[in-house]
Amino acid sequence: MAVSDHVDFAAFMEGVRTRNPGQTEFIQAVQEVAEDIYEFIDDKEQYHTAQILRRMAEPDRVVSFRVCWEDDTHRIRVQRGWRVQSNNAIGPYKGGIRFHPNVTESILKFLAFEQTFKNSLTGLPMGGAKGGADFDPKGKSDAEVMRFCQSYMTELYRHIGPDTDVPAGDIGVGSREIGYMFGQYKRITNRWEGVLTGKGREYGGSELRPEATGYGAVYFLQDMLNHKNNSIEGKTVVISGSGNVATHAAEQILKQGGKVLTLSDSGGFVHDPEGFTQEKIDWVKDHKIKRRGRMSEYANEFKGATYHEGLRPWGVPCDLAMPCATQNELNEVEAKTLVSNGVIAVSEGANMPTTLEGVHVFHDARIMYGPGKAANAGGVAVSGLEMSQNAERVSWNHERLGTMLTELMKGIHSQCVEYGDQGDGYVDYAKGANIAGFKKVADAMLAYGVV
Ligand code: NDP
Repeated sequence: MAVSDHVDFAAFMEGVRTRNPGQTEFIQAVQEVAEDIYEFIDDKEQYHTAQILRRMAEPDRVVSFRVCWEDDTHRIRVQRGWRVQSNNAIGPYKGGIRFHPNVTESILKFLAFEQTFKNSLTGLPMGGAKGGADFDPKGKSDAEVMRFCQSYMTELYRHIGPDTDVPAGDIGVGSREIGYMFGQYKRITNRWEGVLTGKGREYGGSELRPEATGYGAVYFLQDMLNHKNNSIEGKTVVISGSGNVATHAAEQILKQGGKVLTLSDSGGFVHDPEGFTQEKIDWVKDHKIKRRGRMSEYANEFKGATYHEGLRPWGVPCDLAMPCATQNELNEVEAKTLVSNGVIAVSEGANMPTTLEGVHVFHDARIMYGPGKAANAGGVAVSGLEMSQNAERVSWNHERLGTMLTELMKGIHSQCVEYGDQGDGYVDYAKGANIAGFKKVADAMLAYGVV
């Protein structure tokens, strides 16, 4: 019989900081969750005795490996690759792969930790993981990207499998990279199986997967507004990013009758006061995603738009905001600016784009705030459905998947309301998402005993 070990919040966080020196993003992600969970488990001794939160804040394993490849000038390059398998209590590990020069173990541990809660919220049997490498696909030829992807998979393949760990894309990993990695996995193992999601439609990819994260984040925004008898119709929206999530979020905002004022990339943001039309969004998709161009060129293409180098879009007055680029891209000062400009709701397409201080600003101002782990869960949800289709050797149509995605997002919204309703009409969606995501994983861990 285990002895009760009720450590208070301050001591718990001190332990996390001591065990993970310098891993600021990971510590931030754990703190954001632990603030809510501590309140929830205060009178639930079983979770303290079993040290559930401490176990969840320790990844099941972190695999780190060398990735060597040869560039087009025949120079040998050496990169570092990782796979962080955070928790598989409720299903095989699942989470994206990120290729970006600033990828670190801390960033992947935070993303894998968040993924565990997000995947739990979808209601599908998926655990949490994340992988990546400090490789920059920008400026590389297709042949270089292929050689890198093949080298990365040559190590990764031994750690993954359709019932073990199923990676997907993320920043810097789109359909091109997934194709190269899937090809190499198939070649090494001689098995065609659903080991990656986000695949091309020709070889087992699901309809709606490319759109799912951005569309889902807009459905979540709509669900939050509906809960207050409001809607996206006629509202102005500021969006950051110009990748997969941002462009599909912009597209769905248009479908819901909203007006998108901005998109951005790491160089700066574009403000288009006329609003982004479908034609303009298609141009961005083609230019940024297919031709790998920069947002700075948008203003030359479309009259009336302005480009703001080195700046983020949060100073543009709007009704709704959707950070869809990267972590910590919206700080306390920018959150205060959004609030003073009258923003009524924020839905996060990216993972942890708002700093902890920024989140506190939104909560203090009673703004509807949909955290990434709830709002952007549509992508992994459709990835889960891609796994089911691959396992059954079937493919479902767009309409069927569209209905499933809408229902999944509604389900996530209801769980957030169930655990996050403050009793005075305000819903703390972050608290709701954290508690609902935690409970399912924690109860499964309790059932397994000390493992
Ligand atoms: P993409 O690579 O398609 O696009 C990323 C966008 O963010 C680009 O516009 C990029 O600009 C910008 N960006 C990247 N780093 C920075 C930075 N440091 N500062 C400012 N802008 C930056 O990625 P996704 O759209 O797939 O992912 C965006 C976010 O959504 C990430 O947080 C990801 O984890 C999250 N997410 C993605 C899911 C998916 O299904 N794809 C699922 C759930 C969450 P540039 O071109 O200049 O690099």
